[in-house]
Amino acid sequence: MTNPPATADALDRYEAVIGIEVHCQLRTASKMFCGCSTAYDGAAPNTHACPVCLGLPGALPVINRRAVELVLATGAAIGARTPDATRWDRKNYFYPDLPKGYQISQYDLPLAAGGSLTIDTSDGPFSIRITRAHLEEDTAKLVHAPGTGGERLSLVDFNRSGVPLMEIVTEPDVRTAEQARRYAEELQLLLRTIGVSDADMERGQLRVEANVSLRPRGTEAFGTRVEVKNMNSFRSVERAITFEIERQAGILEAGGELVQETRGWSDDRGETYRMRVKETSDDYRYFPEPDLPPLRVDPAWLDGIRAALPELPAARRARYREQLGLTPYDAGVLVADADATRLFEATLAAGADGGLDPKTVANWVTGEYLRIRNAAPSSTAPGADPIELAALIRLVVDGAISRANGKEVFEAHLATGERVEAIVGARGLRQISDADALAGIVDAVILANPAAAADVRAGKTQAIGFLVGAVMKQTRGQANAAVVQVALRARLGPGPTAPRAGEDG
Ligand SMILES: [Zn+2]
Repeated sequence: MTNPPATADALDRYEAVIGIEVHCQLRTASKMFCGCSTAYDGAAPNTHACPVCLGLPGALPVINRRAVELVLATGAAIGARTPDATRWDRKNYFYPDLPKGYQISQYDLPLAAGGSLTIDTSDGPFSIRITRAHLEEDTAKLVHAPGTGGERLSLVDFNRSGVPLMEIVTEPDVRTAEQARRYAEELQLLLRTIGVSDADMERGQLRVEANVSLRPRGTEAFGTRVEVKNMNSFRSVERAITFEIERQAGILEAGGELVQETRGWSDDRGETYRMRVKETSDDYRYFPEPDLPPLRVDPAWLDGIRAALPELPAARRARYREQLGLTPYDAGVLVADADATRLFEATLAAGADGGLDPKTVANWVTGEYLRIRNAAPSSTAPGADPIELAALIRLVVDGAISRANGKEVFEAHLATGERVEAIVGARGLRQISDADALAGIVDAVILANPAAAADVRAGKTQAIGFLVGAVMKQTRGQANAAVVQVALRARLGPGPTAPRAGEDG
């Protein structure tokens, strides 16, 4: 069935109601309930498995303390409440990637409840309420491959089975595809900042699902909800939700009815497609996990975790704007990139005694550093020495080298790791800013170019550019152009009687 296209009018008439669920693999050394290593990337299938994560009868789970700490840290970072005691529940369902026939999860007592995350959008800051964050275990991975006789095989790799997984669920507060993308980006940044997860979407460490429904603007009741899965990048989150809003609006506008269903996103085709229709709500028959004791959260433990949190992205952006005077754009670009943040902070610190202007440092990091790094192949991503960058900025600010030459020096430093002073010296880039040192050359250039000098004396100030160029040529580009201009004007300053062109007609 093809969908009628939604008109702009329909998109105006309906409001999207979007809730987001994120599953994120936690950064622990071992799995959630056994000692198997989580470093299985690139390992042969089923080499990181034991009786516990294979779900063999009689194997007993043991709680990974670090995984609990990471969820508690996330809860603290989003301002959520943590209960004094929680427990584990069995979520019962059958699937070949779930050998026990149930997943150990948390049902009514999540480790974190009732937080929020504020994002910056093109319409300004926007706060999204977070219902809960709970801890569970990942499933094994199904691999579909042809067998030796060409038959279709479904293989199971248990390396991922039992990896600690945090599920974070929002209230249906999101209204646009852009907000959804920004939420996912901000959550990734937060999780990386507090060290909870590497949160790489392409590697499946951060999986985003969205529940999308429409309702006529100005009404409260929710429309029929569609779950969208398989969005493997931030861009596909935005594209998939945009598509889904338009698809639903088109159906509603044509008088059709939506079906409650789960749809996948195809990046290649640029559309969502039906995976399965839900006729009843899932019934997982949750019940308390009898193999694990309830979990008590000692307030001192939680306080320690809260105290150990680093500066969070939103607070850092606010500090950059309010205390360092950066634009919201520069603050956003710097904080979104861990390398850029580190370089910016360390360069400011390295230049502290010289009083480097934060805005100038931010320009070098967001402009030059990120431009060069992003253009480099990831395997050769250059590292900048903040002490060298501070020294370079100082040279440019003091006029010892030109800004254009400064960029050249920085590029050479990133490529070779050589010290800034050495590069400036070797390339003869140090700018001559001393007026006395330039005086002889300026005089010689005036003598050698009498016509241009006369033009300047007659008030044709554009002729001064020619003379500046001649001085630059003599000094092989090392003269400070501003100092040369001042010297030329002092010698050739327009006579008091010379009328300016156009004033005598
Ligand atoms: Zn195991």
